[in-house]
Order: sequence, then structure tokens, then C-alpha cells
Amino acid sequence: NHSLADYDPAVAEAIGAELHRQRSTLEMIASENFAPLSVLQAQGSVLTNKYAEGYPGRRYYGGCEHVDVLEQLAIDRVKALFGAGFANVQPHSGAQANAAAMAALLKPGDKILGLSLAHGGHLTHGMRINFSGLLYDVAAYEVSEKDYRVDMAEVERLAKEHRPKLIIAGWSAYPRQLDFARFREIADEIGAYLMVDMAHFAGLVAAGLHPSPVPHAHVTTTTTHKTLGGPRGGVVLTNDPALAKKVNSAVFPGQQGGPLEHVIAAKAVAFKMAAEPEFAERQQRTLSGAKILAERLLEAGIDVLTGGTDVHLVLVDLRNADLDGKQAEDRLHEVGITVNRNAVPFDPRPPMVTSGLRIGTPALATRGFGDAEFREAADVIAEALKPGYDVEKLRARVTALAEAFPLYPGEETR
Ligand code: PLP
Repeated sequence: NHSLADYDPAVAEAIGAELHRQRSTLEMIASENFAPLSVLQAQGSVLTNKYAEGYPGRRYYGGCEHVDVLEQLAIDRVKALFGAGFANVQPHSGAQANAAAMAALLKPGDKILGLSLAHGGHLTHGMRINFSGLLYDVAAYEVSEKDYRVDMAEVERLAKEHRPKLIIAGWSAYPRQLDFARFREIADEIGAYLMVDMAHFAGLVAAGLHPSPVPHAHVTTTTTHKTLGGPRGGVVLTNDPALAKKVNSAVFPGQQGGPLEHVIAAKAVAFKMAAEPEFAERQQRTLSGAKILAERLLEAGIDVLTGGTDVHLVLVDLRNADLDGKQAEDRLHEVGITVNRNAVPFDPRPPMVTSGLRIGTPALATRGFGDAEFREAADVIAEALKPGYDVEKLRARVTALAEAFPLYPGEETR
């Protein structure tokens, strides 16, 4: 029973170095966040020791009386948070939530229609070598070349042409809201299911700052670690009792064995937090920060896809810039800002290079950033992307911002 630092200094040191990195740089990867200490504690608890195949009250293992309480708390809280009739909180990740939801609705070989990966969709929405592309027959819609938005008339045209069994709405890199009601109408017209993957914007939905897909979709999936700010994991929601049964058996035994009850406990904590007024206020700062970022970059002459954002991220379009996505990502890394390069629609460059950056505000909003700090961060980004940028000066501005908002103060061991 040695401590980690005593028993395995190599691992402890790398964790300590990562804590230092998170504290001393500005995290602007749109899919990342900082889980609060309460979530870290639940996730790092003795619950990791417990096998609990099955569901609360219906387990295949003894000794589940306490994990039953925790899992039921997570289920009840996420149902209340999103107004859903049913929730499965066991998926180990967003990808597994999607795999289970699709297994519940489809047979291998069935046709699906999702947003193409190159236009902001996720791997699990039909990418060729992902399970979704291997198991299902994939058709994809893209954004319009005119305004880079999803054109519902085009979605309808493709739905009628391909007659998929499932339409997927949701994205990993798209700066606007989708019309879930219209997606559902189209699905109904062709007798298809609608699945909405709200992984990215679930926190905004929970805060009432983004339309909810839950009343419209047959099944809604999400991750719990992006805007929601909880532990890494997935959830499946539905309002249809018949689908609920199918989702449960698709998760276990369909896709998974023992659930991660330590993560489920941490999900319960995150769902409690997401119902608090402080969480809504944080999501408001997230949205406001993203708008400020888009405006300041545009003012500095940097192209932003769709000319702005309605969500927590901005897509920088570097197709007409001197730097490509890789160079721009490296440039920001050099000054202490972490983002990811991202293909933009109709990107002429290869996926490992790209012509875009995806920049998000959730993690910094969690850290406490408000409009003034987002303005300063945006200006640092704009300057770093210009020729003749001054690394030392920009790095100092990043450090000042980071130091003004200490992360996990007093916690030296995690
Ligand atoms: N769905 C969407 C829209 C995502 O953006 C992601 C992750 O980036 C996922 C699902 C997958 O989540 P995970 O990485 O937890 O498997």
C-alpha cells in the first residue's frame, strides 16, 4: 500500500508533469475540459474494484448494493437534466455509446446517413475504417459550399435518394446549431430513425443555451467529458420504452462487460453539477468567449468558418493563409496555447496537415475566464499567427492569464 509517488515515481512524475502542463498553458481544445475535484475523487475511488455486470437491481454479481445506488443516481440525474424518459450511463466512451445506440437500431448492412468526417462529422458517424463504416452501409451529407452550413434541403434530397434506416445529426467540428425538428421530419418521411449525437454541445443543452435534441431524436447520445465537464464516458438517452430495452441490451451484453462504476459515480457528480446555476453561468461564459474569439480573429484578418459561432468553438479557415493547420497548431503550442488542427470542408490539404484550427472555450470557462480574458487570449492567438510574432512576449501574456486562474489549487498529487 505504498503511495503512487513512492511505488512508481516514473508514473507519478509524468502525471505531475501533465498537471503542470494543464496549469501553465491555455487549453483550447474544443472537446476538452477540467473535471472538478469531486469528479476526480469519485473516479479515483475504490469503485474501480467492483464488477457489476447488469443493471441496478438486476446484476450478475453479488455485493452490488452500493454501486446500485450510485448508478441509479446517475441515471435519475441525467434523465432529469435532459428531460429524457430513459438513460443508460454505462458506455465507456462516446464511441461506445454510438456503437450501442446503432446496434440497438440497426442490423449490420443497414444504411446510415451522417455528416461526413471531412465536413465536421465524427468517426463513428460512418468513417470508412471505423466500426460504423465497416458494419453499416454509409451515405453522407456535407455542408454547403456556399455558407458552410448543413443545408436541410440537401439532407432531405439525400435521405430520399438513399433511404437510410438511420439519420445521424451531430458533429465534432461545426460552429452552428442544427435543426433537430427538421431532421426528425425528414426521418419520419422516409421511415428512418433519428439519432442525435450531442457529445460536443451537451453542456450548452443542459444549461438551456442550445436547443435540446432529446424531444426530437429517437435516441440521443453524448459524451460526459466535453462541455458537460465530467469524467470521460458516454450516455444513451431515449424517450421510447421499446428502444430503451434495446439500448440496454446493446450496451450490455452487446458491447461491454462490466461497467466502470467509478466513472459512473463521477458521472453522477457531474450531472448534479450540471443542474446548478453556476454551471449555466459557466456555459454562458463559454458561449460568449467563443463569440469574442470569432470576432477578434475576424477583426485581425483571420478567416473564421461561417463568419462566427453559435456554440463553444470556432473553426479557423487557413485555406487563404500563409500557415497551414499543422504550422498554426505548432505556433500556438510554442506560445502555450493548445488547440488542434482540423480539416475544413473542401480542404485541399491532407488530414495530417489540414487548413484549419478548431479552437474551443469550455476548459478556459471552467478555469474562470470571462469576456476580458477571452479577448486577451484571442489577441494572443491572432498575434501568434502573424509573421514576426514575438514568442517570449506572447508566452508571458499566456502565463499571466494562466496564473490569474489557478487550476486545482493545493492539489499536488493528482
Ligand atoms: N461523438 C462526437 C460528436 C465526438 O466529437 C466524439 C469525440 O470526439 C465522440 C462521439 C467520441 O467520444 P469518445 O472519444 O469518448 O469515444
